[in-house]
Amino acid sequence: MPSILPGATLGVLGSGQLGRMLAIAGRRMGYRIHTLSPDTGTPTGQVADREFCADYEDVDAVAEFARSVSVVTFEFENVSSLAAAAAERHAPVRPAGKVLHTTQNRVREKAFLTNAGLPVAPYRVVRSADELRAAIDDLGTPAILKTAGWGYDGKGQSRIEDETKADEAWRDLDTTEAVLEAFVDFELELSVVAARGTLESGSPFAAFDVAENRHHNHILDVSIAPALSPTVSPTVSRRAGEIARAVLEQLDVVGLLCVEMFLTGSGELLVNELAPRPHNSGHLTFDACVTSQFEQQLRAVCGLPLGSVQRLRPTAMANLLGDLWFRDGHRFEPNWAAACAHRDVKLHLYGKSDPRPGRKMGHLTAFGSDAASALRSALEARDALST
Ligand code: ATP
Ligand code: MG
Repeated sequence: MPSILPGATLGVLGSGQLGRMLAIAGRRMGYRIHTLSPDTGTPTGQVADREFCADYEDVDAVAEFARSVSVVTFEFENVSSLAAAAAERHAPVRPAGKVLHTTQNRVREKAFLTNAGLPVAPYRVVRSADELRAAIDDLGTPAILKTAGWGYDGKGQSRIEDETKADEAWRDLDTTEAVLEAFVDFELELSVVAARGTLESGSPFAAFDVAENRHHNHILDVSIAPALSPTVSPTVSRRAGEIARAVLEQLDVVGLLCVEMFLTGSGELLVNELAPRPHNSGHLTFDACVTSQFEQQLRAVCGLPLGSVQRLRPTAMANLLGDLWFRDGHRFEPNWAAACAHRDVKLHLYGKSDPRPGRKMGHLTAFGSDAASALRSALEARDALST
């Protein structure tokens, strides 16, 4: 199949900020963008040429959407397999529906990683309170119970401190399938965003540098590249890149995928989870790299050569959550001018009109002469928003 060239239309399933930034990258290169999701006036829809509003299960609507584009990709992995299958009848879907099928369910994802010989934390599949008790016996506590499907930003997870809490934890999770993971006392969290092109283009592979990620309340708070911590040695970085390559090749991904990892005190890397789409930890590439993760996704799914992943300067990204819009329980407009007074800081807002605590509304990217000063600058600019 020939490359899909500028002027063609890219279809994006999902309509959040990841699709918005993909659409911005695509438009800059002369592509047209169609998006489909159950909402209207969405972050992606605001910058797309056409916004389809339909449930992902509405196969007729998904088929109409797919007929209107040259290739379909995702910005969100919890799109049903039905939708992917309906789209596949009318346009190439990249990454393929089977990549989504594997990565949208933790049981299938862990099985894939284990079969691929990739390192993961000890875990057990759990389908009842009895199985949960047995799993706790095996793995010990603390442990983390996660629903198999539909989790994000730490939702659908609970930490189990001791066996007596098993029944309660199972009831509260309210699911039929979950995994129990041993708690990893990690040194830090890392991620690698990588892309792989089509077979026709020679299946090229390119991975961005490792990002160091810090979470707050289970939500990504800041990402830093290059990693700030000295424990991220060149050997660790190389190994993280190799893991990412193995994942994309063995899953046969055409597109972009992020591998979230834990680095343990003994220098071991464990894969936490996979996201077959742009990732929050890759947002800094938008301003910092020759090619952003969004442009790279577009190039990969359109069969174009991949772009350079070179990062131009040390960079840090700080998320802007809805909490910033409230002070003492009252609505408050963040002080945009004060953040923009930091001349090395780039402001990104996703066009969401309804700030809610914990909701990702935007992010700041800051540059520095080294990772520490980039981080300082990102945090100072974010603090300035509350002044
Ligand atoms: P997101 O989609 O935002 O990445 P998620 O809801 O899919 O989040 P995970 O990535 O599995 O969830 O977990 C969220 C965070 O919880 C991790 O980044 C990590 O900080 C912590 N966490 C998850 N699993 C473990 C574990 N086994 N041991 C220690 N901490 C963990
Ligand atoms: Mg995660």
